[in-house]
Amino acid sequence: MTAVPQTWDVQADVVVVGFGAAGACAALEAASTGCDVVVLDRFGGGGATALSGGVVYAGGGTSQQCDAGVRDSPEAMERYLSLEVGDAVSPATLREFCRGSPAMLTWLERHGVPFEGSLCPDKTSYPTNRHYLYYSGSEPSEAGVAPPAPRGHRVRGRGTSGRLLFARLARAVARSGSQVLTQTTARRLITDAGGGVVGVECRTLRGGPGAPVGPGGLGGPGGPRAPAWARVAHRVLHRWSARPYLYAPKLGRVMHRPVAWLERRHGRPLLIGARRGVVLAAGGFVANRQMMREHAPACRGGLPLATPGDDGSGIRLGAEAGGATAFLDRVSVWRFLSPPPALLGGVLVDRDGRRVCDESRYGAAIGEAIMARPQAQAWLLADRATIAEARRQLRQGTLWFQRVQALCLLTVGRVSAPTVAGVAARAGVDPAGLAATLAAYNVAADRGGPVGRSEDPAGKPAELVRAQDRPPYSLIDCSIRPRLAYPAPVLTLGGLMVAEGTGQVRRADGTTVPGLYAAGRSAVGLCSRSYVSGLSLADCVFSGRRAGRHAATAVPVPSAGRGTPVTSS
Ligand SMILES: Cc1cc2nc3c(=O)[nH]c(=O)nc-3n(C[C@H](O)[C@H](O)[C@H](O)COP(=O)(O)OP(=O)(O)OC[C@H]3O[C@@H](n4cnc5c(N)ncnc54)[C@H](O)[C@@H]3O)c2cc1C
Repeated sequence: MTAVPQTWDVQADVVVVGFGAAGACAALEAASTGCDVVVLDRFGGGGATALSGGVVYAGGGTSQQCDAGVRDSPEAMERYLSLEVGDAVSPATLREFCRGSPAMLTWLERHGVPFEGSLCPDKTSYPTNRHYLYYSGSEPSEAGVAPPAPRGHRVRGRGTSGRLLFARLARAVARSGSQVLTQTTARRLITDAGGGVVGVECRTLRGGPGAPVGPGGLGGPGGPRAPAWARVAHRVLHRWSARPYLYAPKLGRVMHRPVAWLERRHGRPLLIGARRGVVLAAGGFVANRQMMREHAPACRGGLPLATPGDDGSGIRLGAEAGGATAFLDRVSVWRFLSPPPALLGGVLVDRDGRRVCDESRYGAAIGEAIMARPQAQAWLLADRATIAEARRQLRQGTLWFQRVQALCLLTVGRVSAPTVAGVAARAGVDPAGLAATLAAYNVAADRGGPVGRSEDPAGKPAELVRAQDRPPYSLIDCSIRPRLAYPAPVLTLGGLMVAEGTGQVRRADGTTVPGLYAAGRSAVGLCSRSYVSGLSLADCVFSGRRAGRHAATAVPVPSAGRGTPVTSS
């Protein structure tokens, strides 16, 4: 922490650190009250949000659900989500989220984010460009608890639609009059004598102390700033390394090294004062190898669902100001079996041949079940008919990244043999355990049962239980770190503890840090115990709006106004 300076380079009512979904929503809500808002981002903004699938979990009767003829209620949504959310947030907050869910989507639409009520007929990890509403969690498997309803609302845009989600939010932020400082990294929070947060110490490539704020942005004509080539190189190299970082993290890390070097070499100090509050919305910590080693050692080696900006700095800044953290050991590990949907008829077993779980559950639930097994290893047993159908399905109903993953599983990740004992020996699975598990499964398949009433020992919906009895048999390596196929993607879920009514950062003793708020993956939120597709972005919108709204209406911190700001936004 740094002493309160006599002058600020920039001053605003609300300062938002991080320009992803949570930061954008915080800025929009704060600006809507008439406040001065400054949003800063280490890169160009977008973060993991812009790389994401753009699926927002919503229900309780959204207009898209109504268009698709889907019946849903806030109560059914709340009952299902309470299984996933657990104690991450209080029942009152979960209720507020579910009741406000249709209005939340309307708010996003008002800011230009498009959705559509076209219902996907298959259980899939991500619908293709023809469908934008789907079962994005384990709702059908929990039909006994709550009437299932599709609640994955994918932003209507081709490919992975997170890019469009962020583009529309960014456009709305620009229109709101908020000032966005790109290539600006928050390094420390500035607190007053009472521990209240009054500003942020940054390093920026855009300008330095004394740089005027003008139409050209911070560091306009005459202001000291990094050379143009350094700013361009920083922007381009970060953008180029973002995709490789997702699929080949080692390569992405190497490509990103010059970006960090440019920041060290050309970054200039910048002090930003916050009259009412600072919102930390700087993402999670997958990219921080030390934090991963400390909090989630079993997940190291997974594919990061993140950008190199998810280095835990938002969480660190809050913790240094006295904030407490929780759920840092909760990491979502994804292992999707569908598409192709035929694989949902297979049987997932561990090294001892024991059944792992209902294969039709959501990919993160399957990932969690595999993590609990010896060495986080699992294989999917599938017979000739299942493999043939899966291959046929690959040609349709998949996007390119799903095809790559499925092809990987069906080729390098698969061994086969004419007998169950033979295939078990090839994969290193206990043959007796596998034979017993398969026999119990095939008996359940033969007995059939009305739709929804399952005889399956793992409780898989009856319509997905298919006898696996036609040789040759295959075992597909679904381990978290398979020997040859692709590793499982991982996403951190925990962060700073916040007061649920306001989003204000909480200390361990339950009091709050004045002037400091947190949102999105920098904070504990709805998805901190367990993630289903769309729940992280939904939480970013919910928690970002909450933090922005409360920061904007907070009583100004007296010491934040001290000194003479050199420039004012
Ligand atoms: C491939 C992929 C697919 C996904 N699909 C979905 C999905 O469909 N639905 C869903 O709910 N979730 C999905 N997720 C997860 C989801 O995208 C993220 O959890 C969510 O976007 C986090 O949003 P955020 O606003 O908290 O952080 P981010 O969007 O990561 O934004 C944080 C920003 O803070 C900036 N920043 C970091 N540190 C600093 C600092 N010190 N100073 C200044 N700026 C800083 C970063 O540059 C970044 O721009 C997916 C993730 C990936 C990678």
